[in-house]
Amino acid sequence: MELNTLTLLEAARGLREGTFTSRDIVEACFSESSRSDGEIHAYLDVFQEDARKQADLADERLQAGVPKSMLDGIPLAIKDNILISGKRCTAGSKILEPYVASYDATVIEKLNLSGAIFLGKTNLDEFAMGSSTEHSAFGPTHNPHDVSCVPGGSSGGSAAAVAAHFCLAALGSDTGGSIRQPASFCGIVGLKPTYGRVSRSGLIAMASSLDQIGPMTKTVADASLLFSIIAGHDPRDATTHPHAGFSFQDNASLQDLSDIRVGLPKEYFGQGLDDKVRAILDNRIEALKQKGARIKDVSLPHAPAGLAAYYLVMPSEVSANLARFDGIRYGASIARNESPKDFWEIYFETRRKYFGNEVQRRIMLGTFALSAGYYDAFYLKAQKIRVRITEDFERAFRDVDVILTPTSPVLPFRFGERTEDPLSMYLADIYTVSANLAGIPALSIPAGSVGGLPVGVQLMGKAFSEEVLFGVGHFIEQS
Ligand code: GLN
Repeated sequence: MELNTLTLLEAARGLREGTFTSRDIVEACFSESSRSDGEIHAYLDVFQEDARKQADLADERLQAGVPKSMLDGIPLAIKDNILISGKRCTAGSKILEPYVASYDATVIEKLNLSGAIFLGKTNLDEFAMGSSTEHSAFGPTHNPHDVSCVPGGSSGGSAAAVAAHFCLAALGSDTGGSIRQPASFCGIVGLKPTYGRVSRSGLIAMASSLDQIGPMTKTVADASLLFSIIAGHDPRDATTHPHAGFSFQDNASLQDLSDIRVGLPKEYFGQGLDDKVRAILDNRIEALKQKGARIKDVSLPHAPAGLAAYYLVMPSEVSANLARFDGIRYGASIARNESPKDFWEIYFETRRKYFGNEVQRRIMLGTFALSAGYYDAFYLKAQKIRVRITEDFERAFRDVDVILTPTSPVLPFRFGERTEDPLSMYLADIYTVSANLAGIPALSIPAGSVGGLPVGVQLMGKAFSEEVLFGVGHFIEQS
């Protein structure tokens, strides 16, 4: 067996039993990425030397019988908007191309304490804005299942790295679907945690009230394991919950689904949903029914307004968060080789030159939505819809334990198919944005494939119900 194809749990067991070493796994991962990342382009940076050193240290601990955790010696890939001290962090943007992180994100600190190894930083749409990685300033990532198709986005590099077995698992970030949609397109598992369960300290902010870091893995059990390491309260992120922690249980899979009530929202199964995606979902729903789950129709009446609300709240926060890229404090600046006449010229010209089109579009949308004359009509209205969407979920979760929907309305699409028309790209997020607006957890699980292209199913639950999602998700994965 190729060691790079192991799951986290398989690797943890083998390392504990001494069947292979951490160094063996790291070498297997590098040999696979050297062979095919030229075609896939999942990585922006690879840390060969560091990773080998870390692996040898982990092997010493494992041999001495004192591993730091179940993840000790296990190699991961990290989305390039999460800071690792001393490493470049570009967020997929020219404006941060020369930027080197001066501290570790909290999730990186936690993974370091657990002995995990970082193989490299993965590609993403610039500042995590997109659904295909075509907006990366460093060129797109290709889908390992069909290199003529996009891997989804914005965590497309992480999803492709896991699917192509360049690493055993990865971290992504999700503001409106950026973990779940690429997980679905690449045939892997992705979790967007409950807002406030995973620290955002050291994540380059896109839209702070929506952003969460989460695991991207080969199996549901692996997602649960990685989540247990990164979850928890953090004094450096005031939005983390005091009881954010999560404990991993190896055999947490539900044997019996008869107590589980699964809701199907009619608003997610209507117009725009690809028939082939629909057929795969019907199949999974039938399997859940066979296993005793109670399937119920539910309604989320404000769901159709979700995308519009998201594309007002998100750019508003983007316009504020990205104001810090001023050509002085971080990264690239026109002042390096030109002689600007004042601060404003540095500010405007740096941003004009180094931000890509999609980023500039969203900053403009955001500043417009927040401007005095339009604030009530756009931003305030979107926030009111956000409250309604949250209430819809609260009502639905009185009747059901989980809500099942497609992750994406469409199959992985081809390069260039949606880049000319931003609205058609935004429509790729139609089923994922509501979970971010409501702050609830959502898990994408591989559900089948059409002509070799993967299709994912999404499970949403009430806040802090990740354990239930893993239980039902594990069953869907096995069936
Ligand atoms: N695709 C969505 C967008 O473009 C989601 C991005 C994300 O979750 N980071 O905004």
